Amino acid sequence: MNRPTVGILGGGQLARMMALCGAALGVRFRIMDTAADACAGQVAELVHADFTDREALAAFAASVDVVTFDFENVPAASAEYLAEHVPVFPNPRALALAQDRLEEKRLFRSLGMDTPAFEAVDSRDGLAGAVARIGLPAILKTRRLGYDGKGQFRLRSPGDVDAAWDALGGVPLILEQFVPFERELSVVAVRARSGAFAAYPLTRNWHADGILSASLSPVAASTGIEQEVDAFARRLAESLDYVGTFAVEFFQHQGRLLANEMAPRVHNSGHWTIEGAETSQFENHVRAVLGWPLGGTGARASAAMLNWIGSLPERDAVLSSREGHWHDYGKSARAGRKVGHATCVAADARTLAYALAALGVALDREGQVAPLLAALGEGAERAA
Ligand code: AMP
Repeated sequence: MNRPTVGILGGGQLARMMALCGAALGVRFRIMDTAADACAGQVAELVHADFTDREALAAFAASVDVVTFDFENVPAASAEYLAEHVPVFPNPRALALAQDRLEEKRLFRSLGMDTPAFEAVDSRDGLAGAVARIGLPAILKTRRLGYDGKGQFRLRSPGDVDAAWDALGGVPLILEQFVPFERELSVVAVRARSGAFAAYPLTRNWHADGILSASLSPVAASTGIEQEVDAFARRLAESLDYVGTFAVEFFQHQGRLLANEMAPRVHNSGHWTIEGAETSQFENHVRAVLGWPLGGTGARASAAMLNWIGSLPERDAVLSSREGHWHDYGKSARAGRKVGHATCVAADARTLAYALAALGVALDREGQVAPLLAALGEGAERAA
């Protein structure tokens, strides 16, 4: 029996959960990060190096069977260099595509998926022209290196153009129409080296200050929407020859779906799959990059995920909840940092709502659970 070693570039919580889930399968992990205290280093071997250090990359490639990522902003040149030495999944082309919000949206459109109206912006005059065509409100974003709402500026009135340009100008930008969406949804899906494809049930997401705050799955959606999303995710993965887990985020507006962005990695909106699905997104990612058969992606129950941003709440309240599952990433507290999450899993939506309401009170986080309770109460989110 050969027990492979998976190399991961980026040693945050995603690498940590990949290593924890993959270890159960006998897989070993070696992780590279630019920070000596990256939290995945607490559960797997950590190599402290810069992602552009060719010598370190070559040594890393020689010590693992396959390389993958917990971080999409690894320089494309580094991914290509690694791919000359060792299998790299997802492939560098898919990674590069997902690093660029403009190319990503163009690809979505070419595959028949709607997106918010958008235009490339490269100058102050170009921004004024794009604002005139797209209208306001709109969001100016950096094409690259943006995440969790970083590198974004919302324009509400024509007077905001100068401030937006002062804040972000100088790098390639994209202006997007602001969508007054009813819901934010995401699909997490996985494609194997064999080409086998599977998608998890749709997840509904809530953001606060651009950062994911909570998720709920499965989601009540017309069969049409679920089929549209699954078919699109499959086309996207096939067009990129993508291998591994990925996510696509959507806005739902007046019944239509508009694709916002793709994450070429396991995704925060799929954390509920650890306890709530037949196989977690992390295990399926590991299986996929190793060329192993995929596990089932069906929901075992109704699940909700609450993100802990900045600092952890009281652990025992979650541990004492029969439905609650506690995840601490082992990071130090810092404003805006994802330091852990909790998943609540229950056989039906009603029990899930009770458990969430009790947790909200026990943790003094009623505000965070309120939108989930409203969604569950409306019967908008169904039992699994
Ligand atoms: P992003 O980094 O593109 O995922 O943006 C972070 C969050 O900002 C999204 O999840 C939305 O809540 C919000 N947002 C981003 N783009 C738009 C848009 N075009 N219209 C409305 N809200 C947006």
